[in-house]
Amino acid sequence: MGRVSGRSCIVTGAAQGIGRAIAEALLEEGASVCFADINGDKIAKVADANLKTYGDSKVTHAQVDVTDRATVRAMIDHTVASFGRLDVKFNNAGVNRPMNFMDVTEDNWNFIMGVNGLGCMIGMQEAARQMIAQGTGGKIINTASIASRQGYDNVAPYCASKFAVVALTQSGARDLAKHNITVTGFAPGVVATEMWEQVDQDLMDIGAAERPGQAMEEFASEILRGRVAKPQDITGTTTFLASPESDYMTGQIVMIDGGMTLV
Ligand code: NAD
Repeated sequence: MGRVSGRSCIVTGAAQGIGRAIAEALLEEGASVCFADINGDKIAKVADANLKTYGDSKVTHAQVDVTDRATVRAMIDHTVASFGRLDVKFNNAGVNRPMNFMDVTEDNWNFIMGVNGLGCMIGMQEAARQMIAQGTGGKIINTASIASRQGYDNVAPYCASKFAVVALTQSGARDLAKHNITVTGFAPGVVATEMWEQVDQDLMDIGAAERPGQAMEEFASEILRGRVAKPQDITGTTTFLASPESDYMTGQIVMIDGGMTLV
């Protein structure tokens, strides 16, 4: 028996990085998982790779744009058709496009707040709707960030969007408690994923870095654990949040940042 044995889960942003690691860790501990992502080709390949190990009673996938309620509903319907119900929903898909504070545009703001903020809100609402209809309760788990605890220059809309994730976690926890649905979140620090390839490029484009990897190295020197995280540093906590062991937690964000912020 695994820690999340028999649980039906959805993870968004699961084509790579933290989301993929969350989803694969859930499979290892006995869950059934719908891998979901906007990148349809990649999510199909990642799910297929896991299907070979775990079989189609445990693995499915969906192409979803978390800002588009119709595709979010379709993803949930597909998961319920595949596994019979929905127990755990990870709202993990996220984007970042660094810009100098004074240069931030409406497009930059709307893109980042759309995916990270509105996408989280829609994901919570639609997952909760399904869990309420089932009458089974459930768990909603949101991906925050150290940027939900501190405002950093060059990434103001990203920080605002991750502060929003904390607010949504608290508001959702209060509203959904009566349905036996808990809402929690976790806040990584710096995790070595593909996201950093684009972030590095953007930081160089705006003159905030001279070479790829520079920002990560500068962050790493401040981390009490002495290094940036790998996605696998995050999954012990995410599986815990999806498991019965965390049933008495709600409205909380767990920091997993190697000691970057201490808040
Ligand atoms: P990543 O860029 O490697 O992966 C993000 C995934 O989300 C991609 O597969 C992408 O296709 C998908 N996605 C983007 N927009 C989407 C949309 N509209 N609908 C559905 N899917 C969409 O990023 P990551 O580093 O794995 O980050 C995952 C989460 O963790 C994000 O919320 C991010 O903000 C957060 N986070 C990352 C770090 C880090 O250092 N990597 C630190 C703190 C928090």
